[in-house]
Amino acid sequence: MPLEMRGHAVARALYDELREVLAGLSYTPALRVVRLGDDPASVSYTRLKDKRARELGMDSQVIALPASTSEAELLGLIDELNADDGVDGILVQLPLPEHVDEGRVIEAISPAKDVDGFHPYNVGRLWAGKETLEPCTPAGIIRMLDHYGIELEGREAVIVGRSNIVGKPLAALLLRRNATVTVAHSRTRDLAAVTRRAEVLVAAVGRPGFIGPEMVAEGAVLVDVGISRVGDELVGDIAPAAHEKSSAYTPVPGGVGPMTVAMLLANTVRAARRRRG
Ligand code: NAP
Repeated sequence: MPLEMRGHAVARALYDELREVLAGLSYTPALRVVRLGDDPASVSYTRLKDKRARELGMDSQVIALPASTSEAELLGLIDELNADDGVDGILVQLPLPEHVDEGRVIEAISPAKDVDGFHPYNVGRLWAGKETLEPCTPAGIIRMLDHYGIELEGREAVIVGRSNIVGKPLAALLLRRNATVTVAHSRTRDLAAVTRRAEVLVAAVGRPGFIGPEMVAEGAVLVDVGISRVGDELVGDIAPAAHEKSSAYTPVPGGVGPMTVAMLLANTVRAARRRRG
């Protein structure tokens, strides 16, 4: 039977660690989550981040602005949050409305408060192998693989998807752990031949059931980042039939998802400790 790697269990262990760290601090780390508009997925993600932060006893606030907020207004708010000594972490929920330049917004956030780890300064540090605020989903995946004792060193890892939030930073983290990393994408030729080489296969595509059993090697470790809504259900990128060939896999929902929020709070605590000494 393949091992089911459950994100809730790993996240719980991380929350316990964070609670201990927080109990030893003389201040309360503060997170500000900025959202433009009422996109249902963004509303639910920002609520969850805020709820988990408060449950840990952190100072958290969602700043919800209308979708019509101008880029200049948003940049002004970020300037204020950057300058506010009581704020440790700033997260702007993506995607942003089309009239706002995401890159400009990300670059406006102080790298020291960039708890999503998307600022080019932090991205550069990540690829240079330096200590940094690591993007939450990739960092959560590594944490989960460690928790379940999955060996990475020297292993063949294939990531399908090369986004700035998942595929690329995960490649950097897997390299740091001495895996041999391939990043595949929509222009990859003979994708199935590439994915069948993987001892650790990560799918971050956003297409339900995209990775079928014929694309998976016997005994591979499968990590499913994809979340798509199909009817009333949340569905991953990896078809359940492929799980049967694996040695370990993450379910959807309940796999990688819970780790993303947990790592965000870990990053907020890290940002606070670095900044406040
Ligand atoms: P994204 O920015 O849309 O990137 C998708 C990637 O998949 C791109 O690199 C794209 O290639 C590649 N792709 C698309 N079609 C392909 C094909 N036919 N063959 C091979 N590669 C293909 O997605 P993302 O933001 O990384 O998110 C991916 C999924 O993860 C989504 O379902 C998202 O909801 C989910 N997600 C989950 C979490 C979590 O916490 N669990 C966090 C973030 C994202 P090109 O670059 O060539 O276009």
